[in-house]
Order: sequence, then structure tokens, then C-alpha cells
Amino acid sequence: MTESSAPAPSGAGGTVGVMAVYLCHELPDLHEHEARIVDVAPGRVVLDRSALHPGGGGQVSDVGWLDHAGGTVGIVGVETVDGVVWHVLDADIEVVGDAAGAVRVRVDADHRSRVAQLHTDSHILNALVYDRFPGTLVTGAQVNADGTGRMDFDLSDVDNDVLRGLDAGVNDVIRGAVEVRSVYVDATDAGTTAGLVRSLSVAPPPTPDGRLRIIEITGVDRQACGGTHLANTAESRPFRITKVENKGKRNRRIRFVLD
Ligand SMILES: [Zn+2]
Repeated sequence: MTESSAPAPSGAGGTVGVMAVYLCHELPDLHEHEARIVDVAPGRVVLDRSALHPGGGGQVSDVGWLDHAGGTVGIVGVETVDGVVWHVLDADIEVVGDAAGAVRVRVDADHRSRVAQLHTDSHILNALVYDRFPGTLVTGAQVNADGTGRMDFDLSDVDNDVLRGLDAGVNDVIRGAVEVRSVYVDATDAGTTAGLVRSLSVAPPPTPDGRLRIIEITGVDRQACGGTHLANTAESRPFRITKVENKGKRNRRIRFVLD
């Protein structure tokens, strides 16, 4: 698919509580593209299209660069305010005249990859915990830019050493080179499938047109999610659990890093 035939970035106008179809979902390998500035404020701009993931559900947003008429500035984050997606810049830029609004967007591919590795590994960890302790709910999840993350589970009466050892299972799946794919299903059908919509999900589905984005790690995990993922588990560096903490009577917090 060429860049010009890319679908409209409906995600740029996504409202809170509705998971739009992001450009990075449709074209996960699109790391550079042309765009136009449609609004500007001190240190931030709104673009007519953007391949940057806006973050959400504990996943940090993409970062990158904006090449504009006056030079290049860093995009340090994405913030959605009242349904408007702002790209936060590390410097002010001046937009004067029509031509000045034309920019080139570049996604930081290393950052994207690091987050996608941690996020995909989170799905695997979630599946292993769910398998070992059936019915376990995720009560929180976070993926950071520095290559660390955590997941919180509603678990009582478990041996923390058992949880600490689950990274071996995650690494088995990474080494197994398992395909990861996204499919869209009708949200009303998906509602009847237990376990499909879990709190690990990045931004609540479904899309405005009633579709639900499902991430399938073949034979391992299947759940609704709007985050960024790998195409194959083998793309992840090794995964290591660094700490298991008790958070209240019923919660366990599992901290992890990419090795
Ligand atoms: Zn996900």
C-alpha cells in the first residue's frame, strides 16, 4: 500500500472512550509521511494525519520528529484534549502562510519497537497468569519508554516466587517465534466471547463503526487491544521479571524489563 492510499487518520479525531482506527494500526510500518498542520499553540500542533500512536491504557505515546519549513523539532509526546490530538513539541514553531503548514512526520522507530516489545510481552505474561490462575483479572498495566513495565493482577494467596518464575514461559513464547496479528470483529459478536475484552486493553474498544480490534498471539492470547504490537514474538528481546510486590491484600505487582 502506498502512502497516498492510506486511510484517513480517523484516530486524529478520536474521542475519549471510543477507540478510533489509528493510522499506525492500518500501516504499522509507516514511520515517515507528509502531513499538514491544522492548528498550532505554544509548543504543540494538531496535524491532519499522524502515524504516531497517542498512547493510553498505560502505554506511553509514540515520539518522533517534525520537519517543518523552519527546521526540525522533536515530538516528545501526544496528548488528547477534548478529542483533539495534540503533538507536543520540544520547541515552538511558527506557521505563517499556507506552505508553512506542510510538514514531514517521523516516528522514532526505536521507541516504537521498545514499547511494542514490552506491550506484546505483557499480553504473553497476562495469558500465562490467566492460564495458571484461571479467571485472574488485570488491575493495571504500564509500559514505559525506558524499557520497563509492570502489570498488576488481582491475586491473593499465591507464592510470589511462582509469579517471579513466569518470565521463563514468556521467553519460551518469544523464542517460539509466534505470529502476532490484528483482526477486526463485529463488536456485538465479540461481546459474547468471554475474556476477549480485558483491562490490559489500550484505550477502550470498539471503533465508532462498531468494530473491535483483536490482537491474536497464535495459541497464546487473544484479546481486544488498541496498542502497538510486534508482528512476531521473536522480535522481542529477552524478557525478565525484576520484582513481585504485594499491593494490598489482593493485588500483586509484577515489574519487568527487556534484557
Ligand atoms: Zn495490546
